[in-house]
Amino acid sequence: MSRFAARRLDDLRATGLEVCTHPGLTVVPPGDVTPASGDHYKVFTPYWRAWEAEPWRAVLPAPESLELPEGLDPGAPFTPDDSAGAGSLAPERQAGGWTRARARLRSWTDGGLADYGDRNDDLPGAATSRLSADLRFGCLSALEVATAARDLPGGDAYVRQLAWRDFHHQVTAAFPWINTRDYRARDREWRRDPEALAAWKEGRTGVPIVDAGMLQLLREGFMHNRTRMITAAFLTRTLSVHWREGAAHFDAHLTDGDVANEYGNWQWTAGTGNDTRLNRAFNPSRQARRFDPEGVYVRRYVPELAELSGAGAHRPWTEGDGEGVEGYPAPIADPGR
Ligand SMILES: Cc1cc2nc3c(=O)[nH]c(=O)nc-3n(C[C@H](O)[C@H](O)[C@H](O)COP(=O)(O)OP(=O)(O)OC[C@H]3O[C@@H](n4cnc5c(N)ncnc54)[C@H](O)[C@@H]3O)c2cc1C
Repeated sequence: MSRFAARRLDDLRATGLEVCTHPGLTVVPPGDVTPASGDHYKVFTPYWRAWEAEPWRAVLPAPESLELPEGLDPGAPFTPDDSAGAGSLAPERQAGGWTRARARLRSWTDGGLADYGDRNDDLPGAATSRLSADLRFGCLSALEVATAARDLPGGDAYVRQLAWRDFHHQVTAAFPWINTRDYRARDREWRRDPEALAAWKEGRTGVPIVDAGMLQLLREGFMHNRTRMITAAFLTRTLSVHWREGAAHFDAHLTDGDVANEYGNWQWTAGTGNDTRLNRAFNPSRQARRFDPEGVYVRRYVPELAELSGAGAHRPWTEGDGEGVEGYPAPIADPGR
């Protein structure tokens, strides 16, 4: 539970109301599996082994009706106002809601799930479930999704990702400062570089795979997991800008942004979190060749590079006799080879 959620619960209890909470946010609630020593797992693989052996709760249907305490006026039902803050909303964001979430889950278990293990890193294929915002807002419960997927082809690989989600929640429950302090303090020198930070936010770093990810975020309020790692590593490892700066930008634009998964993953990528490989490298050029070999993902999101063919989209600096592509910046840092 984040600090905010814990405070909110304390405040409610302080009113004198009887407050009951029920598990629902995760498949396995934080604290239900713990290592022999310590209150939470710091490393994913042993957590995963314990998580797999844990029995799951039954999925319960939504209640038919709710009884309100006497004298309480619930007011008019909430209707989301799509025009509020429209300027800052991603124009191509996925529409949300309980009914759509259910349809998405059905079409996922009937279709893409079977190939998930092979295709989850296929950047141009966009072959992941896109259920993260539905999970974030509780339009689907993680238990319901895991139960629907578990016994189907592809279910093992997929449920493992839901265990990652639970993993970050149990870390955050034990370390609620995940969004402000290093989980594991490292001797890292952070740089203040407002220009580089602005270029990164706008998708104008001159490194195509980084810019494509950042532009996907602004356009869709979503970014593929692979480019989340590449862009976060570029900011924190290549540019040495603090993970808090990057996470704040993601938080402002992601429709699935939540404290545990966002900050847990940022710290994982920056090397201050739960990754056991501290010097994990995300060489942007190598990542691009491997996960977007034909440059399809880059061309989809970076308009200036739409005319380049094949993997040439990843090397715009070699175009025009080394002058680059008109309107597209030169790399602000070494994109790797
Ligand atoms: C820097 C960074 C920031 C991130 N911020 C968020 C965030 O704010 N909210 C969020 O839900 N995820 C976050 N992730 C994790 C992951 O990128 C997204 O969950 C995933 O891309 C969502 O797309 P999907 O639903 O199609 O995922 P799928 O690949 O279909 O996975 C299914 C579900 O498993 C869970 N999941 C998958 N990968 C992870 C992971 N690495 N960590 C935790 N849960 C995972 C998600 O709930 C996801 O919906 C972040 C990753 C990185 C590297």
